[in-house]
Amino acid sequence: NERIDIFGVPVDVVDFPRSLATVDELLRGDGVGVIAAVNPEKIMRAREDSRLLQALRSAKLLIPDGIGVVWATRWLGLGRPSRVPGADLMPAICEMGAAQGRKVFLFGASPEVNGKVARILPERYPGLHIAGRQHGYVREPDMSKLVADINASQAEILFVALGSPRQEFWMTQHVRELSVKVCQGVGGSFDVIAG
Ligand code: UDP
Repeated sequence: NERIDIFGVPVDVVDFPRSLATVDELLRGDGVGVIAAVNPEKIMRAREDSRLLQALRSAKLLIPDGIGVVWATRWLGLGRPSRVPGADLMPAICEMGAAQGRKVFLFGASPEVNGKVARILPERYPGLHIAGRQHGYVREPDMSKLVADINASQAEILFVALGSPRQEFWMTQHVRELSVKVCQGVGGSFDVIAG
């Protein structure tokens, strides 16, 4: 995908179908692809936080999450992306995962919300398997065990719901140790799904 800079912060010139096609390629490929959403708040933040900027740069897919990012890209004449909300991409990935019989690991949110999402997703997307889950309040010394658990679960899809920029930092820090194929930072989406 074509990647451009908005005020120094990268974003991919993609639309929804192109984003899903990228996910499909990742699921059928060998490596690990991190997916992060770029919205105006994250652009402002990344301009002042080089660690966040680096985290975004290292992602495989940077979706234009928010109409502001789409307008800025078009107005600057840098391309014609369409809006790809992360909160809509996650269900679409679940649908694709269900059709392909994929395994998912859910990391993040409160224990209650995390458990609810693990019950709801397989009901909503028959064929999708919850291979494992972990709430989002893990102490740093326990992180390597979590990574081992994720890999042992043989999940291909990992959703990370720690909020931003915590989830972007976590994904960048651990991507090299993970054996999943797709890892999406989904912010507060678990709370939305749990209702
Ligand atoms: N969260 C988490 N671990 C943390 C901090 C937050 O799992 O250490 C979860 C939180 O439970 C919620 C999601 O991350 O489900 C988004 O949190 P928050 O609203 O604080 O972040 P924002 O939406 O502002 O990025």
